Amino acid sequence: MRSALIRLLTAGLAAFWSLAASAQTADLVLVNGKVVTVDDRFSIAQAIAIKSERIIAVGSNADIEKRKGPATRTIDLQRRTVIPGLIDNHAHYMRAAEYWHNEVRLDGVTSHKEALSLIREKVVETKPGEWVVVLGGWAEEQFTDEPRGFTRADLDAVAPNNPVGLQLFYFRVYANSAALKAMGIDASTPDPANFKIEKDAKGEPTGALNGGAAIGFLRDKLGEVARDKAVANVRALMHDLNTMGITAFQDQGGTGVKPSHIDAFRQVHDAGQVTVRSFYNHYEEPRSAADVDALIGRMGAIKPFQGDDWFDLTGYGETLYFPLHDALLAKAANPSAEGLALWQRLGLGLARNGIHLNVHAQLRGSIEGFLTAMEAINKERPIKGLRWTFSHLDQAEPQDLERMKRLDLYAQIHSRPTIQGGLMFKVHGERTYDMPPLRLIQDSGVPWGLGSDATAVTPSNPFYTLWWAVTGKMIGGKTVLHQTISREEALIAHTRSNTPFLFQEGNLGSLAPGKYADLLVLDRDYLEVPADEIKDIKPVMTMVGGKVVYEAGGR
Ligand SMILES: [Zn+2]
Repeated sequence: MRSALIRLLTAGLAAFWSLAASAQTADLVLVNGKVVTVDDRFSIAQAIAIKSERIIAVGSNADIEKRKGPATRTIDLQRRTVIPGLIDNHAHYMRAAEYWHNEVRLDGVTSHKEALSLIREKVVETKPGEWVVVLGGWAEEQFTDEPRGFTRADLDAVAPNNPVGLQLFYFRVYANSAALKAMGIDASTPDPANFKIEKDAKGEPTGALNGGAAIGFLRDKLGEVARDKAVANVRALMHDLNTMGITAFQDQGGTGVKPSHIDAFRQVHDAGQVTVRSFYNHYEEPRSAADVDALIGRMGAIKPFQGDDWFDLTGYGETLYFPLHDALLAKAANPSAEGLALWQRLGLGLARNGIHLNVHAQLRGSIEGFLTAMEAINKERPIKGLRWTFSHLDQAEPQDLERMKRLDLYAQIHSRPTIQGGLMFKVHGERTYDMPPLRLIQDSGVPWGLGSDATAVTPSNPFYTLWWAVTGKMIGGKTVLHQTISREEALIAHTRSNTPFLFQEGNLGSLAPGKYADLLVLDRDYLEVPADEIKDIKPVMTMVGGKVVYEAGGR
């Protein structure tokens, strides 16, 4: 009797709440579209109702009509496709933002001539004497007309009065005459200790500076960017990401990242101007036993999750013990036993402090060595639940994925072959076609997501990543990957599957009631266009937290 009454009351209460929810009136409805929700059933709807920052209903036009009140705004989607905002799980945008005002991006440019004309355009709008730079994100192999770098004469022709420096991955800088002068390099300059000044038959510098250290040398010459400018650059970077369809990312620090980079994002956040949700990991580069001790000593001060859903620290990454940070274009990784012991001590420190770890590992030696260390750590302090993550995994094999599942590990896979594919063949030969083993990972059951690793080693555009995952092609058209996945699998991996890295699965990743209204209205149908056109898809509108942050043509 008593329990029947409780049941009745409970049922009444549930009915009341569902009535209250259905009575919610939308501020904004999007109707008459093809809404790819990326929910658990990958269902397709027609319309969405939004109240404040969140989605309150998804369904047919008729369902959503019911959510309209006198003040509700309506956007007619005109049958366009809507997808959730794309989440980049691995990028280095905080570092990249600093020089955004004087940077030219060659993302997706397939002509050497066009690359030069883009540099010329930037030079024209820049004051004489000021730097113009391209800080990575391109490869010589992407130019289908002339697959080569840039001579000093090429660059002098488009930039007679401005220093111009192009970073090629982490191994070369191309400079014009003004840049060589600004860097204090001429025919009489001897090679610095850690990179080489390429010279022609007459002994004149060609403009090529060979070696990873040349990149730091160039960056040092660019000078400190004023705080105001740095903050404006963060807003400009976010705007550019919005135009490409990125609504959230996880930053992995990287060599050269400074507290001032993070502060610039914090300022944009505090001013309420964030248009790309910015999550980041704490980055350091311990290089010795003493560095390891010092870092373990201050690990307790690393406190994730003190921010909000716009800007927050999520954990530690992507380098644990820096000497074991492997290179994709090396033949193999052979981590030393001594290095692995230090790696393990650091990992144990993170586990003891309950900190999420994202660790860079590309080649077999690193993947196996780190897995063994993680298994040992797990015996002392269980890591299940911390969502420890491998970034890249280019040479993962089935047995690695099995070991990962036992430790509840996650994987982030990145589209670096879109520009590095050609170079990877030179080092890894035919194996390149299985790097990363995308199909194997998709079928393994290991939770995983797609990202870019922009901006130095990959372009930022998430549609290039989706295109590469589906077609296996690099920019310029060459096939570089045989292990492709379906476009549905790729979209899930670039949205919903990336939310665990941000600890945001309740808020982001699909278009469903209760989630933030982070979405893209596309210029063509991602599910129907020829696969080769996926890379050309552009948002006509980008929305973050229910607010339109980008509209094509500024309508
Ligand atoms: Zn990495």
